[in-house]
Amino acid sequence: MAEESAAQKNPENWISPQKILVILAHPDDPEFFCGATIARWTRQGHTVEYCLLTRGDKGVRDELIDRETLSRIREVEQKRAAEILGVSRVRFLNFEDGYLQPDLNARREVVSVIREVRPDVVVTSDPTNYFHREDRINHPDHRIAGQIVCEAVYPASGNPMYYPELLERGLSPHEIKELWLTLTAQPNMMIDVTETWDFKIAALKQHCSQIANIDEMERIQRLRHTPDSSDDNPRYVDSFRRIKFR
Ligand SMILES: [Zn+2]
Repeated sequence: MAEESAAQKNPENWISPQKILVILAHPDDPEFFCGATIARWTRQGHTVEYCLLTRGDKGVRDELIDRETLSRIREVEQKRAAEILGVSRVRFLNFEDGYLQPDLNARREVVSVIREVRPDVVVTSDPTNYFHREDRINHPDHRIAGQIVCEAVYPASGNPMYYPELLERGLSPHEIKELWLTLTAQPNMMIDVTETWDFKIAALKQHCSQIANIDEMERIQRLRHTPDSSDDNPRYVDSFRRIKFR
């Protein structure tokens, strides 16, 4: 029993501070998918950086705003949200929102970020999750970002034969220790994030361009407690598929 509660308290079982790189498609994805876990990690002394593949420049259905203006707004929102979660750096790649493709160019861009940051752990979205929940189709960028990142992690990032031009830029091969997939239908890892759920909500509130009704968003997020807990005494978990490389 004592062992079980230790595992629940420290399910990651990391014995030293980890460098964690979160690579996702859009501004607001880190907060919506796993913001409370990110807050948990930074509070535990791990370093978290973000890399967003797009600036979310099609994230509203509004003909009155142009994509460039929306990109700038979303970049600011993302940086504010990241700050609340304790994230140390946010970088953006310049892919167009909605048009992500798992091609060799996108893979090279992600390999180059992984080799530069040299993380222990990479977090991305599950590339196999086509139908997310019963009432929606997962955004294609979420799946495709996951595919690009998985294919960058293995085998390209650790193998000097891939993208030899990166060696000339000083970006030597790097192998990560763990890959965590968020937004997954096949979790093998649950993280109790009850203590940091408020940080997630505070960070989500920064994404004003994406949230029509902030109070309603907060109400829905608070209802997302585990079925075995209550509104008055909620428990929250984030689920992941965790791959530990040997
Ligand atoms: Zn998204």
